[in-house]
Amino acid sequence: MDKTLAKNFAEGVTGVLAEVLGPRKQFVPLHEPAFNGNEKLYLSQCIDSTYVSSAGEFVDRFEEEIAQTVGVESSVAVVNGTAGLHLALEAVGVRECDEVILPALSFVGTANAVRHAKAVPVFLDVERESLGICPEQLENWLLSSGESKNGSLFNKATGARISAVLAVHIFGHPCRIEKISAICKRYNVPLVEDCAEALGSKILGKHCGTFGEVGVFSFNGNKILTTGGGGAIVSNSNEIVKKAKHLATTAKLPHAWRFLHDEVGYNYRMPNLNAALGCAQLEQLDHFLISKRQLFKIYSDAFSELEGVEVLPEPSNANSNFWLQALILDEANVFLRDAILETTNRNKIGTRPIWDLLPTLEPYKSFQSQTLNVAKAFETKIINIPSSASLI
Ligand SMILES: *Cc1c(COP(=O)(O)O)cnc(C)c1O
Repeated sequence: MDKTLAKNFAEGVTGVLAEVLGPRKQFVPLHEPAFNGNEKLYLSQCIDSTYVSSAGEFVDRFEEEIAQTVGVESSVAVVNGTAGLHLALEAVGVRECDEVILPALSFVGTANAVRHAKAVPVFLDVERESLGICPEQLENWLLSSGESKNGSLFNKATGARISAVLAVHIFGHPCRIEKISAICKRYNVPLVEDCAEALGSKILGKHCGTFGEVGVFSFNGNKILTTGGGGAIVSNSNEIVKKAKHLATTAKLPHAWRFLHDEVGYNYRMPNLNAALGCAQLEQLDHFLISKRQLFKIYSDAFSELEGVEVLPEPSNANSNFWLQALILDEANVFLRDAILETTNRNKIGTRPIWDLLPTLEPYKSFQSQTLNVAKAFETKIINIPSSASLI
């Protein structure tokens, strides 16, 4: 590596970030929550009510408001996004030893949910524009590997049922979900959307999470809004939400006093305390969305002055929530990535590379994956930069 070049470019990137972020005494994290609304009021109301656990007014209200925000029939709030994905998979009929198709480039929670449902992941490549699962490869794979029997699709090579496609909207940028949804319908495979990062993201006015059978959001502390820890399952099928809610509530049958459970359920419902925080955060969603879009414009303008790097834009036709801003390094500068990460962090600017590809992680090495050329290229090119709404 040319040491001088590395140093200059890394300092160039750090300089642009430093200019945007302004004078700072403390470390600027990649993403931090903002609590400038009714958080303390609702939390103390919740405590006064004594209903702090997995039932209460704030849970009902949060579920209604999430459904309204996303534009679906109903939702169920859960303890985190991973648990939500697990339940969503089970609710659309994923069973032990089934295969679930997902992109190789995502947070590990996406793949973990597949394994929690005891299913087998099949990793596909992503596409350049959205970093989401590649519709063309998906269609090719279903066409060449799938065989239809009794209304279900089976993998000809393994004999397993292909019971779901799990698409992910990376950094809040909508993937080509309309295309993916049409393919899934054609092959009769349920579509689950991992919208953990995509609250507020839309395609032509239609919210992410409403293109398939079911969508799942996360409200972890680093997401666009937070409930401390939490998630929500949304669907236009009341059947799916009912099933997910039942499983999340220890599969308990309604009865005035008896404890009757009709299957092995989970303790996955969101506590009222977390929902109280969520209700206050939801009131600020529009404001967060405006700030994040503004931050993207500021970063984009600032980095247009520096050659060899660009800020990841939203895909065409899509309206991103710009949850996490990302720099894309030109091919020629990929070898400078670690120098940039090192220099920025040393200068108190929180940056990180994108996740390692899922099929390279220890628990996922033995599962099937297709050619992953785009995912492999992007794994080396992306650097996330400070993205908090509070930076504006
Ligand atoms: C955050 C995240 C999850 C998991 O959500 P948790 O609430 O942390 O369990 C799943 N998928 C993606 C893409 C995420 O970013």
